[in-house]
Amino acid sequence: MKDITPFKSFTPYSRQSISEEDKTCVLEALNNPLITQGKINEAFEKALANYAGTKYALSFNSATSALYALYASLRALELGDLESFYHSLVSKDTNFKTKSIITTPITFSATTNMMIACGFKPIFADVTYDGNLDPLKCEEILKEKALRGEDDVIAIMSVDYAGNSVNAKAFKELAKKYDIKWLSDSSHSLGARYIESTNDEGIKIGSLAYASVFSFHALKSITTAEGGALLSDDPKLYEMAKLIRSHGITKKELYHSDQTTLGFNFRLSEINASLGLSQLKKLDSFITKRNELASIYDEAFKNNPYFYPLKTKGLSSRHLYPILLDPKYHCAKEDIVKRLLELNVGTQVHYKPLYDFSFFKDYKPKNEHGLLRNAEDFYRATLSLPLHCNLEKEDIKHIASIVLDVFSEFN
Ligand SMILES: *Cc1c(COP(=O)(O)O)cnc(C)c1O
Repeated sequence: MKDITPFKSFTPYSRQSISEEDKTCVLEALNNPLITQGKINEAFEKALANYAGTKYALSFNSATSALYALYASLRALELGDLESFYHSLVSKDTNFKTKSIITTPITFSATTNMMIACGFKPIFADVTYDGNLDPLKCEEILKEKALRGEDDVIAIMSVDYAGNSVNAKAFKELAKKYDIKWLSDSSHSLGARYIESTNDEGIKIGSLAYASVFSFHALKSITTAEGGALLSDDPKLYEMAKLIRSHGITKKELYHSDQTTLGFNFRLSEINASLGLSQLKKLDSFITKRNELASIYDEAFKNNPYFYPLKTKGLSSRHLYPILLDPKYHCAKEDIVKRLLELNVGTQVHYKPLYDFSFFKDYKPKNEHGLLRNAEDFYRATLSLPLHCNLEKEDIKHIASIVLDVFSEFN
């Protein structure tokens, strides 16, 4: 083994960045008469909608809750209303047709868990070499279904892996052609932009799909500790998701109210929202810093014989910095991770294809091997290196040299 200088102290692959200003905002929120259901959430929602360029934004206590509200509302819109949806779901109505959503296996469980919770069947389609859902593979599925006269697919749910926009143009066209909805789990990509041609400044993530979900979990672009949001231009979706967020109850005059549907408590507190509002002001500077740090990695890793950094397109939020290992090193990945850990460099693997988890075994793709070639290769190859706003350029240079030295040990 080489004599490699460890990083100064342990760094995880990601960590939140909280300023004194953030703390002041949270303390101020605690002094308000309302610490939930107040003006700060309204202001946060307005600021989010304004930032992303959508008509509506709804805050939630997690992206998972926002995904649930999105999927349930989507089915309710198709069936007419939320009441019919929940009656069918709960009464196990035999006339209640199972609908499907095409999605990526390279994502966090919540993307698909909430689909299943709302009675949808997920259909996994393969990814391209950037880890994003492949629109061509989605179309293959849609074409085959059309030939067989099956009309169960009502949406495609894509994920902007690592903070890189999916091919928005292709998904928009698919949605139009097959009369389905394109949804986006943009939990990685708040602050990113989709750029079609090199000389345009692009479109911010959040307004491209029919509906987009963001996460404000500690490790995402900005944080509310736990939190999420649903953005869309559709007033009907907005109203339904809002009902689901708060017990299905509509307030009337005085103490009168009605509960028209099943509902939950998916609300974000004013304390969390105050952190979000304060963080949102720094979002663009976070993205700039992440990109500056990532370009130092890019430079250090140029032409190395071990791996190549994930390619980015448009303006990435750089939520993750994944490297893709040459097949020669796939078997050594666990040992490489252990060695990096010894040297204070935390890494993570994003993600194992979801259908490989035991819970999703019934949703394994039905080709001869029950797997998707690119997704499997991607899982074997990928490793996320530390990238967050508490690191500085010199830190990244040091980590990059540690990473290259460790790989050379496995040569
Ligand atoms: C983080 C994440 C989620 C879940 O977000 P929570 O706010 O923790 O519920 C969902 N999907 C993706 C792709 C994520 O990265």
